[in-house]
Amino acid sequence: MEAEVGPEEGGSPSQVLPVEPTDSRDLKVVELPLTWRLRWPWRGLGPLGGDIFYMYVANVFLYTSLKYTLPYYFSDYDGWTVYYIKVAITYVYINIVTNWLCTKCYTSFIRVTRDRPDKEEDIAIRLNAEGNDKKQLKWRFCDICEMNIPPRAHHCKVCKRCVLKRDHHCFVLGVCIGYWNQRFFFVLSFWMLVGCTLGEFFTCIYLKDNILELSGSYFDLFFPVTLYSWVCGYVSLDVVLTVSMAYLLFLGILRSINFFNVQLLVITNGKTSHEEWKHVPVRVRTGVSDNLHSVFGPFWALNFLFPAHILFQQPGDGTRWDGVSIS
Ligand SMILES: [Zn+2]
Ligand SMILES: [Zn+2]
Repeated sequence: MEAEVGPEEGGSPSQVLPVEPTDSRDLKVVELPLTWRLRWPWRGLGPLGGDIFYMYVANVFLYTSLKYTLPYYFSDYDGWTVYYIKVAITYVYINIVTNWLCTKCYTSFIRVTRDRPDKEEDIAIRLNAEGNDKKQLKWRFCDICEMNIPPRAHHCKVCKRCVLKRDHHCFVLGVCIGYWNQRFFFVLSFWMLVGCTLGEFFTCIYLKDNILELSGSYFDLFFPVTLYSWVCGYVSLDVVLTVSMAYLLFLGILRSINFFNVQLLVITNGKTSHEEWKHVPVRVRTGVSDNLHSVFGPFWALNFLFPAHILFQQPGDGTRWDGVSIS
């Protein structure tokens, strides 16, 4: 029995399979059917908190931008200019919502084909034996899921599933980020940063020119005071929404910067957040271009314009990591 590759998360530790060549055919790790995968993101209260947060921020951002802040800020511009700016803001909104949904739906949970269950272990053992190299990343056996899992897959104790190339479990989205949905998560972080920064800019100008001129006191922008004023009938619901938006957008900016930064580093270095945090001694020999290709497929930059996963698919299946080894 060989040493385990890095620390394992959740439940009992996985075992590295012994190296014994066999004649069995390849073991396939398949994606779960979409209908099955769609059930998972909506389970439990944790995911709902993140969903409410995202839906609130995205929809109130669009509503307050189109109805109040943009017409006010660009009041001196002609109608077509305001129209195109509204289209641009709507485009940011669509990118946030679509990438959020894709991150939730294209989960990276894995299961092993059951066509020849009696041969599964043998096949995984052969794959381990192929390289016959002590530095090769190994297939392991997850005691909880009771199945063989490929290198870089890990068990998530929150999702209670093994996740392909597990990066981390995102508690805001309530889903694990792994091989299939990391591309959407990274793009979502980018558009959240753009959307929150734009929204905060317009919202602050609107508040400064309207609320402050009305009351003359910054104290009125303290959210409990705004809420109390609304309850007493001094301000409208629109003011409450706009002030709450300023707070949420600021929180969104901080979170997006953090997520974007971390993902940018791990993706370009060809690693995962799990490997970085757990100090897994992984050596990546592939370059930045190959690492981006592995996550986004070809034409990686197009993912930032629209979710391009249907047109440009990732080159591998998340089970083979030829350019990655134990350092
Ligand atoms: Zn597992
Ligand atoms: Zn998870």
